[in-house]
Amino acid sequence: MIRKLLRRILRRPEDNTSTHRPRGPVHIPRDRHGIAREHILPAARKVCDALQAEGYQAYVVGGAVRDLIAGIEPKDFDVATSATPEQVTAVFRRARLIGRRFKIVHVMFGRDTIEVTTFRGDAEAVTDEHGRILHDNVFGTMEEDAARRDFTVNALYYDPSSETVVDFHHGVADLQQKTLRMIGEPIRRYREDPVRMLRAVRLAAKLGLSIDPAAREPIRAMADLLENVPPARLFDEMLKLLTSGHAVRCVRQLREEGLHHGLLPLLDVILDQPMGERFVMLSLERTDERVREDKSISPSFLFATLLWHEVLADWEKRKQANEPAIPALFDAMTSVLDQQAEKLAITRRIATDIREIWALQPRFEQRSGKRPYRMLELPRFRAAYDFLLLRAGSGEVEQELADWWTDFAAADAAQREAMLRPDEAPKKRRRPRRKPTGGAGPAAAA
Ligand code: ATP
Ligand code: MG
Repeated sequence: MIRKLLRRILRRPEDNTSTHRPRGPVHIPRDRHGIAREHILPAARKVCDALQAEGYQAYVVGGAVRDLIAGIEPKDFDVATSATPEQVTAVFRRARLIGRRFKIVHVMFGRDTIEVTTFRGDAEAVTDEHGRILHDNVFGTMEEDAARRDFTVNALYYDPSSETVVDFHHGVADLQQKTLRMIGEPIRRYREDPVRMLRAVRLAAKLGLSIDPAAREPIRAMADLLENVPPARLFDEMLKLLTSGHAVRCVRQLREEGLHHGLLPLLDVILDQPMGERFVMLSLERTDERVREDKSISPSFLFATLLWHEVLADWEKRKQANEPAIPALFDAMTSVLDQQAEKLAITRRIATDIREIWALQPRFEQRSGKRPYRMLELPRFRAAYDFLLLRAGSGEVEQELADWWTDFAAADAAQREAMLRPDEAPKKRRRPRRKPTGGAGPAAAA
């Protein structure tokens, strides 16, 4: 209380245009933040209008406000309100309650869905022995809702009807000064939720902000806390980071902050081998380009590239131990994916896709007979081929091989015929069939 009072007294007068709000949020008018009502997705505007018409508080909140002020197109528009989830559903015709513990409401307008969340408080949060918050499912005031958000730039509330931004933590100023500042005490906030360390890196890269030293310095020492985060949550956050359009910058920063260790086990090892680093960075550059061009990107492809050099190393070891090449590859794939799963829960569907991309790689070596034609017909050909291009680009395989496949895919029937290599495995053919069992030849790789 006393600190709040002091803060209010010490605040520069122009910062506090809201004389009617004793609690001290700053109400920032449009000419100082630049967001016009028209910048808000109509569906989000309608949600706020309708809730306000019923006497509730309702604001566009979080990432959308931040991105609009930073001149970035928001991914989605979220609304925070004083209405309870049940009260929200009573206001809209197409609204769906979701979540079990902390209910949120999805309100649908045409093709748009607006996520509506009741202000949350931070009383009675249940934490584990490391101070990590396990549940926080109490409703709160708007001020409490702001205080439990992570960074000041994420705690901005935009009211479409008055075009003002309500700012409890100087987020607008921080954003304009390009600083990512934690709300409250960074060490405690990272302990409550270690994922905030990853969010710091991602948001700084996405918005071109520098992480305030107070929020940056503790990260190195606290990085290990990420081990207590459920793997599925880490996977989601890593996926966000890698598909942010700034993956290269994010991964560099993760390494600088010492955060890459627990995340993609062995990513640090991979990045320490020059060829592995080239391969991963090429893949991330390509992903960033695609995101910026608004093209779709495939999580499977991305994770397949991140883990490939680990597979290569494991595969090599098995071949050295005289395991036949193709079974060795499959065992290496399983081993790498299993190891990965302990930290980062790759969903089963994604793991299946990853395996397919990897399993097709040896088949690019076969350029004779019917096999190249069969390869072209496979549904995963395109992904596997893109993967091959990266392998060539990083120097793992000859560029000539990738070029051959580029040409072969584009050629007509006669040209293809002329491109075929003489049978590259004649010895196997000519030899009398010595092994009646277990004929896992390369063709079994698919
Ligand atoms: P983007 O949507 O660009 O990925 P975002 O900041 O909107 O970034 P969301 O995950 O959509 O991220 O979260 C919405 C808002 O919820 C954030 O702006 C922030 O206010 C709050 N928030 C999200 N994650 C956390 C967290 N781990 N701790 C505290 N607040 C959080
Ligand atoms: Mg968001």
